Amino acid sequence: MKEVFFLRCRECGRKYPNQPQSYCEECFSPLEVSYDYEALRQSVSREGVSRRTFNMWRYAELLPLPQGFTPSQPIGGTPLVKSRHWGRRFGAKNLYFKNDAVNYPTLSFKDRVVATALAAAQRFGFKTIGCSSTGNLANAVAAQGAQQGFATCVFIPADLEPAKVLNTAVYGGRIIRINGNYDHVNRLCTQIADKFRWGLVNVNLRPYYAEGSKTQGYEIAEQLGWELPDNVVVPMAGGSLIGKIAKAFCELAHLGWVEPKRVKFFGAQATGCSPIADGVKRELPRFVPQKPNTIARSLAIGNPADGPFALRLIRESGGWAEDISDPEIIDSIKQLAESEGIFAETAGGVTAGVAAKLIQQGRISPDETTVVCITGNGLKTTDAIAADFPASEAIEPRLEAFEALLQEQLKDTVSV
Ligand SMILES: *Cc1c(COP(=O)(O)O)cnc(C)c1O
Ligand SMILES: [Zn+2]
Repeated sequence: MKEVFFLRCRECGRKYPNQPQSYCEECFSPLEVSYDYEALRQSVSREGVSRRTFNMWRYAELLPLPQGFTPSQPIGGTPLVKSRHWGRRFGAKNLYFKNDAVNYPTLSFKDRVVATALAAAQRFGFKTIGCSSTGNLANAVAAQGAQQGFATCVFIPADLEPAKVLNTAVYGGRIIRINGNYDHVNRLCTQIADKFRWGLVNVNLRPYYAEGSKTQGYEIAEQLGWELPDNVVVPMAGGSLIGKIAKAFCELAHLGWVEPKRVKFFGAQATGCSPIADGVKRELPRFVPQKPNTIARSLAIGNPADGPFALRLIRESGGWAEDISDPEIIDSIKQLAESEGIFAETAGGVTAGVAAKLIQQGRISPDETTVVCITGNGLKTTDAIAADFPASEAIEPRLEAFEALLQEQLKDTVSV
């Protein structure tokens, strides 16, 4: 079978063969994977896909995978949870959380992008892989790199959350800590990718990496019964995920698997790093880079590579972007946990908090179907909320001791 995908410049449209390259030589714009949709229509159907195991590989034909590729881990296939209590505060009855906080194997949506990037790394014959990371990407590269036998070397800002560093270190790869923020780390990685024959998943393999995000969009549509939602609220770091969910919806409509629909895209950022949200709110022609300062470290990219595309998508879809402060992020994490039983990391706090704000502003109608993308797990950012939960007093293992406590402190919260 002939290969049905290739690289294409997002601005000038120039085509390139499949290779580890992320920028156009003509205009320096990002390259993206394009597909021959006529050929895909012949080779894959919605019914065929629906019969396969529920994980991201069921959409294999719509991903840039090398011929004969066999997946080795069940990544994706995460729950779409209908809100029972959280949305009720605003009268929102058709609100869903796409919960990638429980993704396999490293508890964030980055497991999806690393899966497609490493398929490309194998195909191009890289022995050493790596990334520039705000935390979750390093976790996913280290885990899947170990499982597939790559040498791994990841680059992170020196001040990342300890849990994110430990969750990378445990897999045995090398971690290079950089004195600087993500944007410094990423610039260094661009130079490394030029100089060494390494597969840096979000640098020279970026077009293949980014396609993995589409699977979150395919799953949302399928879990809604092959229908597109009215609104999607997506956290933005580099601004890639939001655009790939949009691409996934367009592809499904183009293949005739869902009815075409105008979906509004809403972007979520932390106020301490909100270049894209700021650009939307101030109606700027292009975003202004920022120096990040927020507890939402996984979203702390001040100069987002796909920022211009995210800005354009949000505007053209009729959506909006918002940001919330660090104290609001903490409140939002607690709200989501208390009302839905979902423990999200700081980025999830951002997304849920921004969704609440958008409903309150009237930008998202409570009657419509809205999907809020939770992308990472709270166990990785416990530092952010630890101070809010001091250890309770310990009591003796005697019934009288418990009954005394009940009288003093618990009467109002439990039934007696
Ligand atoms: C990386 C990341 C994002 C955003 O990803 P982009 O595609 O770079 O915008 C969102 N949430 C979490 C938890 C992440 O780690
Ligand atoms: Zn170009």
